Amino acid sequence: MKILLSIVIAFIIPQWLIAQASLRPDVPVAIVGGMLLDGYEAEPIHNSVVVFEDGRITAVGPRHAIAIPSKAVILDAGGRTVMPGLIDAHMHIDLIGHGEYDDYYAFLNEMERLPEAMPIAAKQMMRGGVTSGLDLGAPFQILDFRERIRKGEIPGPRLTVSGPWITRVEMAGIPDAYEVVISSSEEAAQRTRELIAAGSDVIKTWVGLTEADYRAIVTAAHAEGVKVHAHLYDPDAIRAAINAGVDVLQHVGSARNPPYEDALVSEIAHKGIPIVQTISHRIWVYPATVEFPERLYDPVYKKDMPADFYAEFIKSFEDIHQLSYFNDIGREIRNAEQSASQFIDAGAYMGVGTDAASPLNMHNEAMWREMSALVESGMTPIQVISAATKTNAEILGQIDELGTIEVGKLADIIIVDGNPLQNIEVLDYVDIVIKDGGVWYSERAASGPVTEIGHSF
Ligand SMILES: [Zn+2]
Repeated sequence: MKILLSIVIAFIIPQWLIAQASLRPDVPVAIVGGMLLDGYEAEPIHNSVVVFEDGRITAVGPRHAIAIPSKAVILDAGGRTVMPGLIDAHMHIDLIGHGEYDDYYAFLNEMERLPEAMPIAAKQMMRGGVTSGLDLGAPFQILDFRERIRKGEIPGPRLTVSGPWITRVEMAGIPDAYEVVISSSEEAAQRTRELIAAGSDVIKTWVGLTEADYRAIVTAAHAEGVKVHAHLYDPDAIRAAINAGVDVLQHVGSARNPPYEDALVSEIAHKGIPIVQTISHRIWVYPATVEFPERLYDPVYKKDMPADFYAEFIKSFEDIHQLSYFNDIGREIRNAEQSASQFIDAGAYMGVGTDAASPLNMHNEAMWREMSALVESGMTPIQVISAATKTNAEILGQIDELGTIEVGKLADIIIVDGNPLQNIEVLDYVDIVIKDGGVWYSERAASGPVTEIGHSF
């Protein structure tokens, strides 16, 4: 009977939602005195209180209006901002920011050392205040890894995963298990069904697909209630994906291409198709590193990596202007001045994703860098914060549980030192991360009651 019940539950509760109760404090927790941004594009609540218990938010409001439970542990958020955990709508948990993909996978010995790489990335996402991530492209080993996070064996974000992507063109230099290469639309539909049966929460498409392929994939995925995320740069491929009903356009407007014609941008905006630009991995990370290469040598990387991983990581940064990833960086930076802002100016439905940890784009800072690049490109800080929390939860189909700080939702909350409405880059200073009601704290925040109820990272 017990086995039967757990099978029934497994079918009803999506995998991303299953939480681990044992990491949670066994008392209510009240976060008191911070500026609250609840995930909406709304005015902040100053001197706020957020109470959570058993992984769920139980009260939210200004201090004078909220009765704090007598047994609650108080976390003082004075001088700081309280907001929903960040959601990265395009990331890769197998990557750590190594400069060359070929060399990295050779170092991993194809996939043999993936189980060592993924915890590095997961911990760094938590350090960056990212409590949920959409992994767009990994072998199904990622399902075991998600389970290890869920059990609390390692700190990490809640993962929604595509598993291997669907493509007509093989990607050079990566292990075969990362992709499903198809040669007909019938095969595309069949492989879509197989991926979903094997554990894909979303379908990711890569390149070379026809409109008929997209249509076959979308039909098969939607029949199972699964969304399709397409990797897109080329305008013809974007049109094909739109015509076929693809759910989310990934990378468009990220400056790898020149700006698109106004009609295409306007159509995407008017149809309300979510886009996730991933603009900073080329246009921001590269100049920031040339200007301040010291960022690559932050001791946190040495701390989080086995010694040979760290040596390989550092070695990959020699002559960064010659890395293949940045071959066309001059043109991309010039294109970015228009292409990064054209969807913002057109009023498109914008999510936020980083493509971390692509070369030099480490998870612990990828989200604040992407959010900062979006502010530079024309969004206001509150728009970007809402996009990276509420909108991303909508894009993932998880808004009923995540993305805003509201009574009844999961306790995914971060506490940041400073005011991101005045300077979005203070999101680099995440002091406390609450995921599923479990509390994690940085070295800087390691004092007082948080050390009694929380876990350090
Ligand atoms: Zn990607």
